[in-house]
Amino acid sequence: MKPHVEFLTSAAAAEQFPSPGPPEVAFIGRSNVGKSSLLNSLVGSRIAHVSSTPGRTRTINFFPVRWGPKQPAPDLLLVDLPGYGYARLSREVSEGWGKFIDPYLMERKTLALCVVLVDVNVPPQASDRSLLEFLRRAEREFIVVATKSDKLSANQLRSKLRQLSDAYQTEAIMCYSAKTGAGRDELWKRIRETVVARSE
Ligand code: GDP
Repeated sequence: MKPHVEFLTSAAAAEQFPSPGPPEVAFIGRSNVGKSSLLNSLVGSRIAHVSSTPGRTRTINFFPVRWGPKQPAPDLLLVDLPGYGYARLSREVSEGWGKFIDPYLMERKTLALCVVLVDVNVPPQASDRSLLEFLRRAEREFIVVATKSDKLSANQLRSKLRQLSDAYQTEAIMCYSAKTGAGRDELWKRIRETVVARSE
């Protein structure tokens, strides 16, 4: 299955969010987690690259997706949120990064699912934990996707996923490799289920 994906708009402030339409699936994670690679691998083209103008990285980018190219209205929007840094950890999530992202995560009525990306090769992080707590408080549906799974053996991967699942207190965790495409079908399936449930 290769969905039809376009670029809609970049928003640098809440006033620039597109008017609410189909269900939205947002991708969030620390810088370098592999978010652009995952998005490009998921849709089979370089969408994350489309809007990454240097110096304008802190924007929310919206990508309409149609299951079939001839459909007049998109089935969903993929939403690429800015990555947060390593240095300031949870403060960044709650302050600078949060100031811009909060209105989206807290108030966006059409936000159906948050896909939180964590690098499976990196130990559990305080900043990621803060983000998940924030999403729980906001009563947002989320899944954790462990990226770069190709770097580990099947055994290592299993134990890492268990460790992350314990640390983040969630069973909603899956893995992905942008390099091999592992996890792609499973992630699309999860996205589709959310979109279908929302449209019913
Ligand atoms: P972003 O900052 O979160 O958008 O991360 P990028 O997609 O730019 O990836 C950051 C780095 O991780 C790059 O060097 C990628 O080549 C690498 N990377 C991303 N995804 C994978 C993956 O699935 N497997 C491996 N081995 N490397 C990856």
